[in-house]
Amino acid sequence: MLSVYNINVWYGAIHAIKDISFNVNEGEIVALIGANGAGKSTTLKTVSGLLRSKTGSIKFMGEDITHTPADKLVGKGLAQVPEGRRAFLQMTVEENLEMGAYTQPKSTVAPGLERVYEQFPRLKERRRQVAGTLSGGEQQMLVMGRALMSNPKLLMLDEPSMGLAPILIEQIFQIVEDLHKAGTTVLLVEQNAQMALSIATRGYVLETGKITMTGTGQELLHDDNVRKAYLGG
Ligand code: ATP
Repeated sequence: MLSVYNINVWYGAIHAIKDISFNVNEGEIVALIGANGAGKSTTLKTVSGLLRSKTGSIKFMGEDITHTPADKLVGKGLAQVPEGRRAFLQMTVEENLEMGAYTQPKSTVAPGLERVYEQFPRLKERRRQVAGTLSGGEQQMLVMGRALMSNPKLLMLDEPSMGLAPILIEQIFQIVEDLHKAGTTVLLVEQNAQMALSIATRGYVLETGKITMTGTGQELLHDDNVRKAYLGG
């Protein structure tokens, strides 16, 4: 479904991504794990067209999207939930969700809302509430719901657990698993390696801009080096 080949990304003189290649098959949850600054967000932003690679190529559903502008990718079925949540804080829950369907025909808004409210009953209860007054966990649900309004084939999540209490992290990961069971393919960037690998079909470990290890979620979860570096021994 997604195939990233040999990308290199610079921020000015900083070489943040070095010869990275990876792929996501339809029906998988693929986790990219790694420490602070390893290049996880940069990788996602490059796939979603917000940053450009100087080399290599990116293909999605058989189409070369290496140079496709970010706003066109949503219409092709690739949605990103950015790090740090970024809901439209002055708008209501429902208005935020409607914004997520801006690339879709108007007729898809009502069924989209119905689907998202089924997945997130909490958002339905709060649909007239202004997003800025939601809790952190609810805001994470909102930005995930907003991304789902475009009915994506591939959902890319950037650190959904960031800043959330353990109980909410479990809820969010449960929702990711539910979405996956319902047919969404997921690319998940996480510092919380334990949670990410426990739900992942496959994973890649990023270290200072390079992929240093890959395997199934379970293989990585039980790997001695991964345990030492990312899972507290
Ligand atoms: P985190 O989990 O802390 O967000 P990450 O693995 O997502 O980490 P990136 O945010 O992709 O890491 O950063 C990779 C490298 O690129 C880091 O060294 C970072 O300092 C650098 N970097 C990221 N954004 C910028 C920027 N806008 N300008 C310059 N350097 C940047």
